[in-house]
Amino acid sequence: TTAVELAQLSLNRLRLTEPQINSFISVSETVLREAEEIDAKIARNEELGPLAGVFVGVKDNICTADMPSTGGSRILENYRPPFDATAVKRVKDCGGIVVGKTNLDEFGMGSTTEGSAFQVTANPWDVSRVPGGSSGGSAAAVSARQCVVSLGSDTGGSVRQPASFCGVVGLKPTYGRVSRFGLMAYASSLDVIGCFGSSVADTGILLHAIAGYDGLDSTSSKHEVPNYTSQFMSISSLESKPLKGLRVGLIRETLDDGVDKAVVSSIVGAASHLEELGCTVTEVSLPSFSLGLPAYYILASSESSSNLSRYDGVRYGSQVGADRLNSLYGDSRAKGFGPEVKMRILTGTYALSAGYYDAYYKRAQQVRTLVQKSFKAALNENDILISPAAPSPAYSIGEKKNDPLAMYAGDIMTVNVNLAGLPALVLPCGFVEGGPAGLPVGLQMIGAAFDEEKLLKVGHIFE
Ligand code: GLN
Repeated sequence: TTAVELAQLSLNRLRLTEPQINSFISVSETVLREAEEIDAKIARNEELGPLAGVFVGVKDNICTADMPSTGGSRILENYRPPFDATAVKRVKDCGGIVVGKTNLDEFGMGSTTEGSAFQVTANPWDVSRVPGGSSGGSAAAVSARQCVVSLGSDTGGSVRQPASFCGVVGLKPTYGRVSRFGLMAYASSLDVIGCFGSSVADTGILLHAIAGYDGLDSTSSKHEVPNYTSQFMSISSLESKPLKGLRVGLIRETLDDGVDKAVVSSIVGAASHLEELGCTVTEVSLPSFSLGLPAYYILASSESSSNLSRYDGVRYGSQVGADRLNSLYGDSRAKGFGPEVKMRILTGTYALSAGYYDAYYKRAQQVRTLVQKSFKAALNENDILISPAAPSPAYSIGEKKNDPLAMYAGDIMTVNVNLAGLPALVLPCGFVEGGPAGLPVGLQMIGAAFDEEKLLKVGHIFE
């Protein structure tokens, strides 16, 4: 098959499934032309990149020069960035074909993708359920095989929780591992671009394409990028104990009463699978675990209230009510932002205001330090930590729409990892009852900073 034939087949599949799933806000018009270029390269015997001809979905809060980039918001409905995000540029340099921009909760704020200004994405396992969020479009697109891999962003779990709900692999890299240049800022000290794939190997190949220092992002790390992809060739899971000696800590607080019983038994099953592979699994306690959720929501809202001030109808965003300056700002933001975003801006502004700053923002920063310390201690004793990726499987569309606190509570498994800046891999580890064919459950593996290589190795052997 030629790259063009393959692209045609894949586009057909995308068009066939899209009416039920609604993963994409926009689909590229240049796919076949890009595939032609790959065929031409093959004909000229030129070297092909590691993603040559591969369909890649890109979350719509990551900028692309040749397609709209809305962030899931009305306020950027007509925005076409004049540049590619660094991660997108690197995908293209590796031969990847950006097939479209995927749906998300507005600016990444949400856990269901229902917070998009444009459409509701369905979970391919049961279309009456949410795909998770905020990168629900990217997760659903890989799950429905509309693309091979995709990019998402993870501020508090937005790659890992939808990966769990949709039964795909999701990787949140270490903070600074991947350039944020061209990612629309939500909470800059927590944001990171992450990867989805239907296997650990695919996910690792995508990470390898996008990781590494970038002069355009001052927080991107100069830490060396190991060859994430070489190990997929050399590891054999046929060895009897391929993970012999690996110390795994099961986080006790993540199996508490509030967690779905069927999820807990999937995770316990995954732990014994790891033992069969040669790991020693012990329980470990993170005493500050439950403090992470309120601290996260204060810090993320605070940072977002500052980051989103740029959407004022002048510098960025569609302009409404241009007769007076004040009403121009006010009307543009009133019309352009959805209710969840407004709530975050108000909460964040409050937490940062004089008189409340010490009680909220400063306190939350102190909790953040505690969380970092307790992870450090636990990762001194263990090579990786494991937990569920979410306290429940995918729930129904509409179920938590009017109960934001219940939705926030579902982020309990993931937010601590962002506060600590650590890498984490989520991969399917079981099924529970529900929907027409059962619902997937995701296992989260957390590693030390810049230890993505180990997570990918363990994940690859585990699956
Ligand atoms: N659900 C969380 C929030 O709404 C996390 C979102 C994310 O990681 N972008 O903030």
